[in-house]
Amino acid sequence: MPKKKSEAQELREALCSKKKHAALRMDDKEIKKAFDYCGKYMDFLGKAKIERQAAAFTVAEAKKHGYVPFEKGKKYKAGDKVYYLNRGKAVIFAYIGKKDVKEGLRISAAHIDSPRLDLKQNPLYEQDEVAYFKTHYYGGIKKYQWPTVPLALHGVIVKEDGTVIDVNIGDDEGDPVFAVTDLLPHLAQDQMKRASTEIIRGEELNILIGSLPFRDDDASERVKLAIMKLLHDKYGITEDDFISAELDAVPAGKPLDVGFDRSLIGAYGHDDKVCAYTAFSALMDIKKTPERTALVILTDKEETGSDGVTGLKSSYFRYFVDDLAEAFGMDGRTVLSRSECLSADVNAAFDPTFPDVLERRNAAFINYGVCVTKFTGARGKSGTSDASAEFVGKVRAMFNKAGVVWQTGELGKVDLGGGGTVAAYIANLNVDTVDVGVPVLCMHAPFEIVAKMDVYQTYKAFSVFMA
Ligand code: MN
Ligand code: MN
Repeated sequence: MPKKKSEAQELREALCSKKKHAALRMDDKEIKKAFDYCGKYMDFLGKAKIERQAAAFTVAEAKKHGYVPFEKGKKYKAGDKVYYLNRGKAVIFAYIGKKDVKEGLRISAAHIDSPRLDLKQNPLYEQDEVAYFKTHYYGGIKKYQWPTVPLALHGVIVKEDGTVIDVNIGDDEGDPVFAVTDLLPHLAQDQMKRASTEIIRGEELNILIGSLPFRDDDASERVKLAIMKLLHDKYGITEDDFISAELDAVPAGKPLDVGFDRSLIGAYGHDDKVCAYTAFSALMDIKKTPERTALVILTDKEETGSDGVTGLKSSYFRYFVDDLAEAFGMDGRTVLSRSECLSADVNAAFDPTFPDVLERRNAAFINYGVCVTKFTGARGKSGTSDASAEFVGKVRAMFNKAGVVWQTGELGKVDLGGGGTVAAYIANLNVDTVDVGVPVLCMHAPFEIVAKMDVYQTYKAFSVFMA
């Protein structure tokens, strides 16, 4: 016979919040779905290392789903699917809903740039018969994590006649890779006394790219010359062409299952392609015309502060909404003021090895589902858009009704660290916005880790929001 519950037990069950591992809240069928879904995500992530590739991948995929380029001045109707590609580095997808656009949009926004090492504009040099590229790191990194990691090179070189040359080397079978070197421990006594931000200095993040000299010549810098000749043969470029190039060194290799149980994914660039992919694929998987017009924004430049023509501080998003509103005889500001947004970005997952930086009661845990973050910012919530209780209440009810496994989380203890997302830039346009996303271990490292259950629950959250 079951023991009768005590009054305290009954009260606790009725009044206190209950948290549970996602695997204990999902049945076998849903867990299998989560693993299968993550296979598709890993395929995307292995191919979309930089924003240009993520934009190209998603546009190609969207075309298969019937999306066509948005045309200003054209009339649109429910069921139409359009996209707007901003300079190949940021993209907006819209699925016109049954309700009039004037009733507002359902927006999911994520970023597709990730921390990395960018080549400088005069990158190539030779030192002691070894050739290198000079770099300037992009985004917030722990510089000491980047030496001795195999690197691939992705991006474009634009020649003076406007020709754009795609560079993608280090990630395909048989490709060579590149690397930043580090000192052997035997000789690192002085290096190890440096402050940890200086163990590898910015100007020491030089990428080793070759060591064979050009043979039939007695001129100086023969290794550099030999490399330049290889680059000319392969890409038709001269040294000056680096000036108008964007070349990014990123960790080489494909995403990998982590753990005996394969419950986790280790890869470069989860931040924030994990939210970009879950939002994007949720939009693509919508079976029938959504109630409200659904928008997915995949933006660039978040990691450097969202400035610039492809970042969300630029007006490209607002202009798009203006043009879309115009197609329905409406003005953009009214549409925005009635819109709602899930700003999708990763959050710090509680790391049991480093428990002190997060406050347990308000931290996000891996395998506890998609994380809802009411406010970001630091030191008095500075810089946050701080979602309203009303909007968080609405999202909470929506997720619970659909059986989404979700949790709340903040980015670190009060007065410790902090960080921002694109939420504030969208909220500043008078759009109700809250941060959601996947908890990540070792964020901004060359190898970041997420849990498959969380990835799937994030996809589910976007599906519920936009459908
Ligand atoms: Mn991010
Ligand atoms: Mn980031």
